[in-house]
This record gives sequence, C-alpha cells and structure tokens, in this order.
Amino acid sequence: MALYADLHRHLGGALHPRIIYKFLQRQDHHILSYFPDYDGFYSWFTRPCRTLEEFVKIHTLVEELQSLEHLPYFCLRLCRGAYTFENLQYLELRYNPYFRTDKNLSTAKRIGQMKLIVETITANLRPADYPIIVKQIVMLDRRLPLEINEAILQVAKDHIGPVVGIDIGGPEIEPGKYEVWVELLAKGRANGLKTTCHLGETSLANVHEQYFPVLDRIGHGIHIPLLKPEMLSELAKRQITLEVCPTSYRQTGVLKDLGDLRSVFSRCREAGVAIAVCTDNPGRNPAPCTLPGEYERLIDHDVIEFSDLKQIQNEAFRSAFGFVGSSRG
Ligand SMILES: [Zn+2]
Repeated sequence: MALYADLHRHLGGALHPRIIYKFLQRQDHHILSYFPDYDGFYSWFTRPCRTLEEFVKIHTLVEELQSLEHLPYFCLRLCRGAYTFENLQYLELRYNPYFRTDKNLSTAKRIGQMKLIVETITANLRPADYPIIVKQIVMLDRRLPLEINEAILQVAKDHIGPVVGIDIGGPEIEPGKYEVWVELLAKGRANGLKTTCHLGETSLANVHEQYFPVLDRIGHGIHIPLLKPEMLSELAKRQITLEVCPTSYRQTGVLKDLGDLRSVFSRCREAGVAIAVCTDNPGRNPAPCTLPGEYERLIDHDVIEFSDLKQIQNEAFRSAFGFVGSSRG
C-alpha cells in the first residue's frame, strides 16, 4: 500500500461536511434553521465560489466552531479519516490559533489563550489507533494587526516540535505591505521555524521576489509559472517547493479547468522547481476529495502521467518540514 504525505491542509477545511453537520445537530446550532437536511447543507458547503473572499467566509464559520472545548472532537476525526481513507503517513495541518480563541474575551486574553489552543491541538493529533504523523503549521493572517501576528509567531516559536513552521493566509489584500510579512517570516526562520506563505494564488499582485530568501515553500504560487515563468529559476536556486492544490482552484474560482495546470507542471519541471500536490480544504470540495483523488484527477486531465506519480509523492516527503525517516510508499 502506498502511503502519502499532504503538506497543505487547513484545519478549518479538513473535515468532511457530514462530520460538521452532525456536530451542528449535536449543538442544536442556529444555522440549521437554513439547512433542515444534510443535502442542502452539503450543497452549500461544497459549492464552488466565485472568489477567494467568498470561499474564506464559510471557512470563518468553521473556525468559530473549532473552539477550545470542541477541538478534540475535530482533531480525532480528521486524523482517523486521513489515515483510513487517504492512506496518509504524514500530514502538515495548518490553522490560525487566534481565530479559535473565545471571541468574548479581550484581545489580550485571546492572545493568552492561543497557548492552550496549540497545546490542545497537539494533545489530540496523536490518535493511538491511527499511526499517522501530524505536524502543525501555525498561520498568521493578513487581516490581523501586527501585534496579534507577532503574538502568533511567538506561540509558534514556543511550541517548536509539534509546530514545525509558519504560514501567512487570509485574502490576498494589501499586496504593497509585503515588507511586514517578509520581516515576520525572517524572524520565524531565525528562530528555527520553517516557512511557507499563501502567494500567487489568485494573481501575481502579492508576489514579490523579496519573499524568496525567507521561504522554504510557497502555498500555491501557481501564477508564477503561469504569468511570470522567468521567476522560476530563482525558486529553483533557493529550492523552494510549490504546494499545488488542484481542486481548490476550481472551488475558489481561480481556474476553470484543471487542464490549466499543465503549463504549471511542465514549466516547473523544466526549471527544476519541485511541486508537492496537496489538498488545501478537502472537506469543502465535492466528495470524495482525498489526496490520492487529487493525483488521479491530475492524470485524468493529462496534467501528469501515471509514471510521474512516484516522483511527485517523493517530492512531498522531501519538502516536508517535520518528516524524519523514510516514506513507506
Ligand atoms: Zn491554503
């Protein structure tokens, strides 16, 4: 049995919609007044969005459900699903700890609660019956003030071990502010954290070459090979891997057809830039969206050949932030 590694998956988008729906039923959640049956909820939850902003709105709803009290419920379910249905040997799970703190608290108290969020997630990502290795990437967010992002970086530094890296997420707003993000990523790196950043997902607007010296990987970055392939040699030189999440681009309205990824893969291959195929938010995609399913869809759309699979799978293990040992693929 081949075993896989997924390097880009959000805690807020990792869960099957049925798990979320059952949770909402248990809580007698008010949102169920809009969705008296599962089918209606499923269609709403997994529908393609026109823009990334629209997609992120539903994400926010799930983040709010994943409060301190309920994190164990969600963590167990996502680990056992990833191991049982996707044959994942290794998973890097990313989340913003601040968005899971209690909204009724003051900012200072919410910042203080982030430690508990990370510790609760850490304690619940080691399910005894499912021998999957799960490491964490802690996310900063473009919508949050610097003070909170610095506190998120601090909590990541304080939990190196279970936390292996940092990422920057949120809608691709204020592209001119890149110096702030570059500095935060550099600080993370100087403190032993690996770095990735959501860049070049919907356009080239927030891609600045100043990011490259402080990044180990790029979340998506597909608009670099699509629109500015001359930048690829710099990525190759710095051994920066692109995390490419095929179905996600249809769900967020970025690509109309997965065949559009053909030039992404061929240009990266020519330039010597590694690609790790990942799932991003598999629970938000029409089921079944699994990592092996993403490989299959890429072959279906003539983006890759079956014979490329082994190398792409190896690339994911090689680009992992916290994987030691050998893949059992
Ligand atoms: Zn993402």
